[in-house]
Amino acid sequence: MHPSLFNQTPVELAAMLEGLGEPSYRGTQILEWLWQKRSTSIDEMSNLPVGLRDHLKESFSLRSLTHVRTQGSHDSTRKFLFRLQDGCHVECVLIPASPALYGERADRRTLCVSSQVGCAYGCKFCASGLDGFSRNLTADEIAGQVLLAEELSGEKVNNIVFMGMGEPLANLSQLLKALELITAPWGLGIGARRLTVSTAGLVPQIRKLADHPQQIRLAISLHGASDEVRDRIMPINRKWPLSELFKALRYWTKRKKQTITLEYILIDDVNADLAQATLLAQRAKSLHAKVNLIPYNTVEGLPWKRPDDPQCRAFRDALVKSGVPATLRLEKGHDIDAACGQLRLKEEKKIRTDVD
Ligand code: SAH
Repeated sequence: MHPSLFNQTPVELAAMLEGLGEPSYRGTQILEWLWQKRSTSIDEMSNLPVGLRDHLKESFSLRSLTHVRTQGSHDSTRKFLFRLQDGCHVECVLIPASPALYGERADRRTLCVSSQVGCAYGCKFCASGLDGFSRNLTADEIAGQVLLAEELSGEKVNNIVFMGMGEPLANLSQLLKALELITAPWGLGIGARRLTVSTAGLVPQIRKLADHPQQIRLAISLHGASDEVRDRIMPINRKWPLSELFKALRYWTKRKKQTITLEYILIDDVNADLAQATLLAQRAKSLHAKVNLIPYNTVEGLPWKRPDDPQCRAFRDALVKSGVPATLRLEKGHDIDAACGQLRLKEEKKIRTDVD
């Protein structure tokens, strides 16, 4: 299996071309074929000498993902299942903004991308970790989800959230490279402020990313406002409890001068009581953070449930009353297994059954 040409930065291309005795402007030409013209074959790259094309064909592949299936939903959120070259599967979700909800931001088309195959963090409510961890995605496999989703939908993605399968901060080197491919003018050209990396709370990596020059945004999967509750559902909290996490988040806000988003899934009988809302409000205020409340999406095989709508609203109202900006996320994609990891889990189960 060859590495993908899409994984090459200008610096890497320049070094390779120099080794081949080719002029450096060939690098610019190659990048243009890849990212602007969206080439699907190296033979298409007609302004490159045949010898160079042959060399590229021997050393690189082009596309890192192929489309397996799309699941659409009535509100036109679409979920794509992609196969990687080694047969693993990843998923991503395209979420168009509805004008009624977003007003002037109605042109927003958000893609939720995966950063790993499976996940090693074992959050108790999440489908992604049910099958364990397989491997990190490479940068071209991350950015390639955007290319393929744009090709399949005919729409340009202008907002990206790293909230698909996997823990992006556990794959930091490829994440940083993917950020380059996605933001560079020669690449996808999407502004760093339109990228949100979501983490379960990997403290050392949060600090590293805080020192990274790009103004990307940060979301934290909090899901519990006390160590007691968070310990129950997120094993990572034992390693980095809330006090450590919030120290790192304060460092982030100091470095980036940005608002952090706290993601909070509402799970019945676990974290959706008003005592948690009060603690959450205190924590959010200490950071000037905003809170995204998400009623839990049921996962086949897991016992957790969402609270009823009035309880979800009461939780939100308690935050808002304390002066915390909080949104209760409108339902999108419940009918397409949009909770991360669910579609892939079904596909891999199906493949296993077919093989057995
Ligand atoms: N590992 C990173 C990226 C995954 S993001 C992180 O934890 O932030 C995926 C988001 O969806 C996280 O906030 C995760 O907690 C949430 N999630 C997982 N399973 C869910 C479910 N069944 N219903 C609603 N949200 C879920």
